[in-house]
Amino acid sequence: MPKRKILLLATGGTIASLETEHGLKPGLDAAQLLSYIPEVCAEVDIDAVQVCNIDSSNMTPPVWEQIVRAVEERYLQYDGFVICHGTDTMAYTSAALSYMIQNSNRPIVITGSQKPISENSTDARRNLIDSIRYAADPDSRGVVLVFNGSVIAGTRAKKTYAHSYNAFSSVNFPALAAIQERKIIRFVPQPPFSEPVRFSHRMHDSIVVLKLIPGTKPELLEYLFRNYDCLVIESFGVGGIPRNLLETFCREMEKWISKGKIVVMATQVANEGSNMEVYEVGQKVKEDFHLMEAYDMTLEATITKLMYLMGSCGGSYTAICDGFYKTVNYDILSR
Ligand code: ASP
Repeated sequence: MPKRKILLLATGGTIASLETEHGLKPGLDAAQLLSYIPEVCAEVDIDAVQVCNIDSSNMTPPVWEQIVRAVEERYLQYDGFVICHGTDTMAYTSAALSYMIQNSNRPIVITGSQKPISENSTDARRNLIDSIRYAADPDSRGVVLVFNGSVIAGTRAKKTYAHSYNAFSSVNFPALAAIQERKIIRFVPQPPFSEPVRFSHRMHDSIVVLKLIPGTKPELLEYLFRNYDCLVIESFGVGGIPRNLLETFCREMEKWISKGKIVVMATQVANEGSNMEVYEVGQKVKEDFHLMEAYDMTLEATITKLMYLMGSCGGSYTAICDGFYKTVNYDILSR
């Protein structure tokens, strides 16, 4: 059987970092990364391209667009793609790519590491080897994040540990698979996509997140409504607007909702998601203003899905709402 063809796309991150007198800084390029894993390079036919070489704290929607174009331009030449990325914004990128590259029967695997690949004790070699093997497996598809032996749907990943090797969790959805040495143990069936792969490049980034704290000042709402097209409110518990914000919130909603501004309620609770119908503080505003609700979606998926929908629905509020509740890459289950 011919070897599977894999493309490695490097973007920087700790995995590619070298020690400098001012701290770790991305320095290795894509080809140098591969030089650390000769064993897996012999199993597949692998090429490498450098998209950028940044600390992922500097990731932006235009860089996502560059990554998508780099995959799209070479899509038919490879069986799978591995993207090396910093861990800090990796969950945002894997959610963003889940919307920007849909129905891909060729796997798009995002990975990185907590320690540079050049260090003796590093998680980088394992993560990179696992990712390449996963990308080379004919049963793999869609956008996933591979880390510490776990395969997580791109929309369900969240960085939950700052230093440990098990940095990512799959939130409100099981991990898709585990990788043990060469074995891939699949937990969630992933049938092939019947629709053709779809690439999208427009992300509309006029979006802001307001994380409520006890005593959040109402003046903030006026500023945010005026300056952003979409406001995601990370509320407490299952979701709702505290009484001290309610009057300003209702006034601002009345002013802006007819101008197509979007408000989405999310929760700051790590697991199980929002449900505004439970309490009076949530039910009433939801009914009165047709707010959208993130339910069990991660914040990373909520934000990037809204960027994608605002970029591709031509400003139609109904199309954005419909699209928001349509499941993409396992991102939303309950509503
Ligand atoms: N600051 C690094 C980055 O996100 C952290 C990492 O890669 O682990 O690029």
